[in-house]
Amino acid sequence: MRKTEWNDWRWQLRHAERTAGFPGVEAVYPFFLTPYGKGLLRFPAVRKQMLPDPRELRPVPGCVPDPFAERGSAAKCFGVKQRFPDRVLVMASDFCAMNCRHCTRKGLLRGAEVVRTPGQLALAVEYVRAHPRVRDVLLSGGDPLTLPDGRVKAFVEAFAALPQIDVVRVCTRIPSMLPMRVTPALVRLLAKSRKVWVNTQFNCAEELTPEAVAACGRLVDAGIPVSCQSVLLRGVNDSVDKLFALCAALQRARVRPYYVFVCDPVSGTGHFRVPLEEAKALERRLAERIGGLAFPRFVADLPGSRRKVPIAGLGEDSHDKKE
Ligand code: SF4
Repeated sequence: MRKTEWNDWRWQLRHAERTAGFPGVEAVYPFFLTPYGKGLLRFPAVRKQMLPDPRELRPVPGCVPDPFAERGSAAKCFGVKQRFPDRVLVMASDFCAMNCRHCTRKGLLRGAEVVRTPGQLALAVEYVRAHPRVRDVLLSGGDPLTLPDGRVKAFVEAFAALPQIDVVRVCTRIPSMLPMRVTPALVRLLAKSRKVWVNTQFNCAEELTPEAVAACGRLVDAGIPVSCQSVLLRGVNDSVDKLFALCAALQRARVRPYYVFVCDPVSGTGHFRVPLEEAKALERRLAERIGGLAFPRFVADLPGSRRKVPIAGLGEDSHDKKE
């Protein structure tokens, strides 16, 4: 393998492995790992997020396949989901550069409604235009930055051109899992409208490799705000030392530590969950260790809620609640 190949994101995707030797688990929750991801397996905290675990198939009380009823919520417009009056989520892809074992949409991506054709994109734009309170469009999936530049450009330009839209949020794990995808050409097309914000996900300091830090730097240098939404995961970042190291590394990379989510009650992820009281204690102890600019909000995404809920005010059973 030559260095030019390693730095080519398409080469990385073409050479991804699709089995890790857990056929039972992988039949339900597929496995996908690029050579870049494979290089991160030396870190236990990353390995835990990447490799299948037989516990994924064990039912856990409170964990369900679709806690946010996303399957039904796209009925108004193909590939568009609206839970909040001021923002919509557009399913731009059903593919990721890595299949995170803790993914909220785990099991939901196969067969998901994804906006693929110009006609479907035009309908999604019309939906937003018909809902003038929407000012923030989230391009999500799957990972929208696994699409070719032309498709990313079409999504960004279509929504950014609407005067009502202030922000086109690109929700992506590419900076942490396929940083070579953040090419100068991609950065230019994202920066052009001056409306793009990138929301990414790093869950442990080890993911901030020199390549990942450089990818974040290219985005920030182009004037694109980059924030991080981490997930609190058992065995990955469930100590104040690990959270401190993560937040400090993000700040050094000029990425804002924005949220730490408690793991959603999704089937196949129960073994990652950290009890709420433990999460609250971690939040308190982290606040004592790190300055406010590097301190993320600890929140839960509750089924049926119209906002992300700070965990400090929640009772132990509330993040299992189905409203
Ligand atoms: S990149 Fe995001 S959508 Fe894709 S598997 Fe990971 S958490 Fe899920």
